[in-house]
Amino acid sequence: MQFLLKNKIIIISSSVIILLVVAFFYFKIAIQSVQIISNPDTANIILTEEFISENSANVSENVQIKKLDSSQKEIIGKQEAYNFELVDKHEFKTGDTIVGILRNRGFELSEAIALSNAINPIIPVKLIQIGDQIEIYRSEKDRSYKIILITEGARLAVIKEKGVYKADLIREPAKLNYVYKEFIIDDNFYESSIRNDIPDSILNKAIELHSKNINFSRDIRVGTKSKLYYTNNQSFKKGENGKFELLYSSLSSKIINEEFFLYQTTDEKKNYYDQDGIGAGGMKIISPLRRLIETSKYGMRIHPVSGEEKMHYGIDYAAELNAPIFAIADGVVDFIGVKGDFGNYIRLSHANNVKSAYAHLNKFSENLIKGSLVNQTDIIGYAGQTGLSTGVHLHFEIIVNEKRINPNKFDEEIDNYFLNDLELTGFYIEREKIRDDIRKLEQKITYQ
Ligand SMILES: [Zn+2]
Repeated sequence: MQFLLKNKIIIISSSVIILLVVAFFYFKIAIQSVQIISNPDTANIILTEEFISENSANVSENVQIKKLDSSQKEIIGKQEAYNFELVDKHEFKTGDTIVGILRNRGFELSEAIALSNAINPIIPVKLIQIGDQIEIYRSEKDRSYKIILITEGARLAVIKEKGVYKADLIREPAKLNYVYKEFIIDDNFYESSIRNDIPDSILNKAIELHSKNINFSRDIRVGTKSKLYYTNNQSFKKGENGKFELLYSSLSSKIINEEFFLYQTTDEKKNYYDQDGIGAGGMKIISPLRRLIETSKYGMRIHPVSGEEKMHYGIDYAAELNAPIFAIADGVVDFIGVKGDFGNYIRLSHANNVKSAYAHLNKFSENLIKGSLVNQTDIIGYAGQTGLSTGVHLHFEIIVNEKRINPNKFDEEIDNYFLNDLELTGFYIEREKIRDDIRKLEQKITYQ
């Protein structure tokens, strides 16, 4: 009987504890979400891509430093609130118009109309629905303002700049933390990263970037230093996908020193580039012949010999007999010999699941066999007209992921990206900004 009573007490008291824990978390979450709305520091943060790149240096202003064990350092920098402060918010009801709402809040009629007109091309004002919202922000400094229109599917910001109204779609306001971590690898990169609480997606991205040039089992020795700088989007509640974004990764030791930077070019494309501005994962190929004169395009065509309409899976280039044919990139000989209508045919296998094939050759370079290593620019054979061919020419193919693609579209197919001069200048500025952020954060660690 006493036992039963004891059990009852245990059951009741543990139920009470569970209820308290659940209630605690419930209210904690509830309080937090209220804070996000009411806290002026977070409510008016409008983070556009541009804003993030312009303000990433702000992390040094307001940082929390967590002291961890000696090989591991972490700083969480919180970004500053935007200059604009939310002064008014309105939810659309039946009969509301943007002009009317703005007029009621003291905007001149002409100003209200101009703002409404600026919104219209992006979000037609006719499509604004009940429940959509408009927010008015003002800047303390110069009394300039910003209007944000929030519909179910989009957020649009309008500002007046030098008398011109500018409207742009923006992202959800994100609460971004900038996180910087550095650690010494004490066994291997993977294990050391896990021990240092690097999020999986950041670790995988860093491995993907560095593994192109660095052999992780051979080149990463104990004592190699890893530096990772990334954003942690606090607005993400569930799941990690997209929560973290790697801004910078470096691995350095006596034998290696490699940095990668996230950079957004003017055409809104974000990619990683090494310290010299060369795209990560990029692959530069050269021409297979000294002079390229296309005689037959990639695509559907009437076959010159059989007369049938057929898909042409490569490009034909005019060539003189025995014109040297070059390996377009470093690779391994994958096939060498006679291959049906292709005659003398050689295929090379390159990095990134890319292959290149050369047909109708008169002869191959001596000493090449299946499995031979070739370097870019090596002569692999000489043009001819073996197989089914009307004259001397090179039939050239590029195969990406087992698919024969249009060789002229190679850069697009494999997401090759190179920066033009203007973009390169922008990249160098961004690179120094990120390095500067990191230097400041490192100083914070040192003087702690
Ligand atoms: Zn051809």
